[in-house]
Amino acid sequence: MQQDKEYVGFAALPNQLHRKSVKKGFDFTLMVAGESGLGKSTLINSLFLTNLYEDRQLPEASARLTRTLTIERRGVEIEEGGIKVKLTVVDTPGFGDSVDCSDWLRPLDVAFLRAVHEKVNIIPVIGKADALMPKETQALKQKIRDQLKEEEINIYQFPDCDSDEDEDFKRQDAEMKESIPFAVVGSCEVVRDGGTRPVRGRRYSWGTVEVENPHHCDFLNLRRMLVQTHLQDLKEVTHDLLYEGYRASCLQSLARPGARDRTSRSKLSRQSATEIPLPMLPLAETEKLIREKDEELRRMQEMLEKMQAQMQQSQTQGEQSDTL
Ligand code: GDP
Repeated sequence: MQQDKEYVGFAALPNQLHRKSVKKGFDFTLMVAGESGLGKSTLINSLFLTNLYEDRQLPEASARLTRTLTIERRGVEIEEGGIKVKLTVVDTPGFGDSVDCSDWLRPLDVAFLRAVHEKVNIIPVIGKADALMPKETQALKQKIRDQLKEEEINIYQFPDCDSDEDEDFKRQDAEMKESIPFAVVGSCEVVRDGGTRPVRGRRYSWGTVEVENPHHCDFLNLRRMLVQTHLQDLKEVTHDLLYEGYRASCLQSLARPGARDRTSRSKLSRQSATEIPLPMLPLAETEKLIREKDEELRRMQEMLEKMQAQMQQSQTQGEQSDTL
């Protein structure tokens, strides 16, 4: 018998997967949250070289004061080298507008992050980094890291780099991890650097800030992470860890009514994600429970809107008493 030379065929599996993925394309959903004017749309357009927001009209400052949270969903199909990515961007224009932002994480940011951190991968970003000096950027990054830790907000955890990866990859991976929160500059304009090389950037009287220059900002690290190296991991964490954790918490709270489940993300790990014990429940009950959880999410969103309105009100009152 010549067993070791016989051919079964599973060596072709990667090709099968490759063909299927190329044909189907990849879905990727990104949510950008933050007050308007922070540079979110410019960043998304710069990241994916699209113009997702060409029909958007920026509201006047007075309109922003009364504006409530509206969630916009936009989709675009991007193709590069024959590979399609169906990108969905969920924008929260006006989120946190007109709230005092002299502290960095504001109470509204903390409440929002806390409401979503066990449901989505959070990637903190500092926008308009060209407004900061390098030292200020580093200090702000450290402050944000400390605050996130203090507030026990879980952000996306990069997987460990495999030991057999090449040295270049390991260095880039370490650099990327150290960059968090990514301090970025966005621009959809191509400017001439010194009159010769066309670059995407922002021109000032003192020089040009290049979006894709790693010495100027973390834009390349963010894009590399989102698109080239971690897109699949982000999706897997969402599906295997976050969604499964959410589903388990729905099912467990149904199995033990009254006992609020705390299958928190911090207790879950990439390894344990597939081992969450799930009580078997009839489908109708499961659906009912998921509807209840959706309702809870809706209530949470309402609560955030109320908090925002209250903060706006107290800010307006503060301004009025200042002028009296
Ligand atoms: P959004 O409301 O958060 O989507 O903000 P926009 O992307 O519409 O940007 C608001 C304004 O900020 C526009 O005038 C942009 O040109 C400008 N802007 C966007 N990104 C940057 C940046 O990185 N640096 C600076 N200085 N301005 C920026």
